[in-house]
Amino acid sequence: MRAELHRRVETLESQGVRPGLAVIVVGDNPASAVYVRNKVNACGEAGIHSEVHTFPGHASQAEVLARIYALNADRHIHGIIVQLPLPPEFDLRRVLEAVAQEKDVDGFHLYNVGSLVIGDTIFPPCTPYGVQQLLLHEGIRIEGQNVVVVGASNIVGKPMAMMLLAHEATVSICHVKTRDLAQYTILADILVVAAGKPNLIVAPMVKTGAVVIDVGINRLPDGRLVGDVDFEAVSQKASYISPVPGGVGPMTVTMLLVNTIKAAQRAAGIDVSDVAARELAAA
Ligand code: NAP
Repeated sequence: MRAELHRRVETLESQGVRPGLAVIVVGDNPASAVYVRNKVNACGEAGIHSEVHTFPGHASQAEVLARIYALNADRHIHGIIVQLPLPPEFDLRRVLEAVAQEKDVDGFHLYNVGSLVIGDTIFPPCTPYGVQQLLLHEGIRIEGQNVVVVGASNIVGKPMAMMLLAHEATVSICHVKTRDLAQYTILADILVVAAGKPNLIVAPMVKTGAVVIDVGINRLPDGRLVGDVDFEAVSQKASYISPVPGGVGPMTVTMLLVNTIKAAQRAAGIDVSDVAARELAAA
């Protein structure tokens, strides 16, 4: 996919448009620094211009909003993302709503959230978008399947459930208050786990032959990076399983590039409204 994206960027450049992404970072969260570096490097490899706008942790919300408004008006920038988490005193919704909806390549603006719910968004949120593309790329049937999504956050679990519902799966969403999680997971033909809890999913909770997508990223006290699924044991039962690191993480970055290129194409007057439809049709 990355190679294909590079070609799409070259085509756009030959038409006088270089896609541009701006990343807003507030404070010095070490995990955020790694994610931002990965995004910037991936942009570079794809030929996308990127710039990081870093603010100290004590910056005011007004300063950050002023920069977002300036980037909204900058015609060299087609995509703007705000790296989360923001400092707790920030009004998250206010900041996310400040990003122009046509540059909202993370898909977090309410307009894009609403568009996703009715199955008509240009910018699906990158992590669930990456999971969807993994499934489509592997030719995994989604229609009519029992899908269980563990985790109900606004950025992963909820949009994931909506996207798989759009593919006509039967979707259950589990969260902290779900009684007897295993009772749900054992029924899953496709199990997507995004809880942020190491070893939450162990082999007896998984149906033989299930497709298991592990979105979780957890740093253990010994420094190891693991997902939410007991990979060793579950991989003995699953028909497919995504690893951590190396599975959904790189796909998330890839889909950010896709959304940024789509934003640049739209700004150049190229119709991308059929892109989501083509992706669905490929299912
Ligand atoms: P989040 O906002 O903390 O949400 C976690 C969700 O999991 C919540 O809905 C929570 O339930 C649920 N949950 C927590 N513990 C649970 C349990 N024991 N049983 C059932 N549900 C449980 O996290 P997030 O932003 O969605 O991220 C989830 C994980 O994915 C994290 O590890 C994060 O680092 C990772 N992530 C990875 C990528 C990537 O690119 N690979 C991108 C984004 C996030 P409640 O709603 O009831 O609290």
